[in-house]
Amino acid sequence: PSAADRLSRLIRDIPDFPQPGVVFKDITPLLASPGGFAEAVNGMVEISPDDIDVVVGMEARGFIFGAPVALALGAGFVPVRKPGKLPGDTLAQSYDLEYGAETLTIHADAIADGARVLVVDDVLATGGTVGATAGLLKQLGAELVAVTVLMELTFLSGRDYLTAQGIDTVNALL
Ligand code: 5GP
Repeated sequence: PSAADRLSRLIRDIPDFPQPGVVFKDITPLLASPGGFAEAVNGMVEISPDDIDVVVGMEARGFIFGAPVALALGAGFVPVRKPGKLPGDTLAQSYDLEYGAETLTIHADAIADGARVLVVDDVLATGGTVGATAGLLKQLGAELVAVTVLMELTFLSGRDYLTAQGIDTVNALL
């Protein structure tokens, strides 16, 4: 089987999680597989630009993939977190969910002006999470160079949502 097939088989569908009607892509079997995790990270590195200063990963699964991708690229790592988690001065960006709203935060001094940033997450769904992260980077004056995800749920059109915001370089391994 191809690398993509091997990885896809390590991601399982969980029906009706976190709510009825949603089929959740559970990546924990992939994480638990020594070869699978390495293959996923290596693949994400290969489809990413190599001239990156900082990888930004979103709580919580963005940390798991963002950190090893940052190490492989020789970049730093900056966490984006839910409100109330980061200890220093923060900037915040809110975005709409199907029901309600969510807010993401980043340290106000986390990224130098003009730094070249790669955003990494496990799954791109509607694009709301990446879009809000891009909003934080804009507030910081950082340059969002590309987005890399393990898996894109194409039927949710997150890529189109991001293109409409001027985010053109979205790399998905699966
Ligand atoms: P979006 O904001 O693009 O709609 O959703 C993406 C965010 O929600 C990501 O941070 C991702 O971790 C999480 N997410 C949404 N759907 C799934 C899914 O089916 N599987 C996993 N593993 N994460 C998901």
